[in-house]
Amino acid sequence: MNANTGLADPAETRHCQHIPACPAAEDLDRDAAHVLVAHPEQGWSLLCNGVVLFEDTGELLPSGESIAARRDEMLAAAAHRKSD
Ligand SMILES: [Zn+2]
Repeated sequence: MNANTGLADPAETRHCQHIPACPAAEDLDRDAAHVLVAHPEQGWSLLCNGVVLFEDTGELLPSGESIAARRDEMLAAAAHRKSD
């Protein structure tokens, strides 16, 4: 909070307001962060830590770095999915 304006600093608003805080974009469990904006029809979600998570598990980090989809993990998890 900015003591002069009473408003949140721009830098501060980018940080997680959750308690406990969501994982940072640099953390390995970054995709466990809260979803701020979900666009399932477009196949992506914006997470609390600024990471864009794609439905194929690919990720785009706030730094501009992209993380390839983890297809091996998806295939391993597929057997546990409900078939409805
Ligand atoms: Zn958060």
